[in-house]
Amino acid sequence: MENRIYNFNPGPAVLPLEVLKEAQSEMLNFKNSGMSVMEISHRSKPYEAVHNQAKADIKELMELGDDYEVLFIQGGASMQFTMVPQNFAHDGKIGNYILSGSFATKAYQEAALLGDAHIAASSKDSNFKYIPKQNEIKLSKDAAYLHVCYNNTIFGTEYKYIPETNGIPLIADMSSDMLSRPLDFSKFDLIYAGVQKNLGPAGVCLVVAKKSFIENSPKSVPTMLRYDTYAKNNSLYNTPPAFGIYMVGKVAAWIKKQGGLEAMEKRNIHKAKLIYDIIDSSAGFYRGHAEPDSRSYMNITFRLPTEDLEVKFVKEALEHNLSGVKGHRSVGGLRTSLYNAMPLAGCEALADFMEKFKKNNV
Ligand SMILES: *Cc1c(COP(=O)(O)O)cnc(C)c1O
Repeated sequence: MENRIYNFNPGPAVLPLEVLKEAQSEMLNFKNSGMSVMEISHRSKPYEAVHNQAKADIKELMELGDDYEVLFIQGGASMQFTMVPQNFAHDGKIGNYILSGSFATKAYQEAALLGDAHIAASSKDSNFKYIPKQNEIKLSKDAAYLHVCYNNTIFGTEYKYIPETNGIPLIADMSSDMLSRPLDFSKFDLIYAGVQKNLGPAGVCLVVAKKSFIENSPKSVPTMLRYDTYAKNNSLYNTPPAFGIYMVGKVAAWIKKQGGLEAMEKRNIHKAKLIYDIIDSSAGFYRGHAEPDSRSYMNITFRLPTEDLEVKFVKEALEHNLSGVKGHRSVGGLRTSLYNAMPLAGCEALADFMEKFKKNNV
């Protein structure tokens, strides 16, 4: 297996082995250009083909039509935290936010730097153990949009429903579950995802938005922070992160080859169930952080009876070639990320390890 280990890191994260190998094989001579894709002009035909195919494949996977635009923007998902309010919360309109975790809160805080921002619902009191329900959402007057973080990478929770906003634009940060399952994406006005979780290398933020929603940014917004700049220029206003987009395109093609988002979802649920079943049948040895009806299929968070055991778990997991299982400091304990590219065999190896670790340490 080329000395690769099972990589459960939350991001940057595991990429499909086939994709890495393909990129490796094209590294020195891309499409007979005698150069790598990193060395050719972003205005050249071979690059444009890569760029446009990636966009087309993403839209096909999401089953979106010509009324949607795919953009590639730099600055990560964190840049979107300010682009969203700068482009949409103006003229007295107020950005509305559901606080379901750390990134959701950061997005809200960026909007609050610029003006009024409203907390429409929050699960902070429970240390973000659950996703607020539809009936907890209270939109403000003059809402510009509702912003949700669809999968909470740090806390291990994920929306199981699409919030109903009664005509108020819906914006979602899907950094850690983008293209992991089919959804009615046409219910969203703008979706963004830092691709280093589930779709590629760091350096690209994928944005998929309704064309009519992004065609007119307010005059005062700087050129590079305007969605309309990217939309009007096919995300080629300036030099794009070409290698990252090339990799995203390869990952999108790989997902298509696996059977698309239905197949991804089926696999992802199966993989996550292996781990959740062990947590649930461990008689309290493993304690899941997320409430069962809010559990993420991408990031699984859990604690052990003592912190010493948690340290031991991380150390012994690595000895079993299972890497990146330490939790985030705001939850503590363990977190295993099972993105699209994590093979079933990796989850089976982890499940096996968890059973043995429990037996040896109860
Ligand atoms: C990682 C992550 C971010 C931050 O992404 P950057 O690309 O590092 O800015 C934002 N939102 C979610 C849900 C994430 O998982």
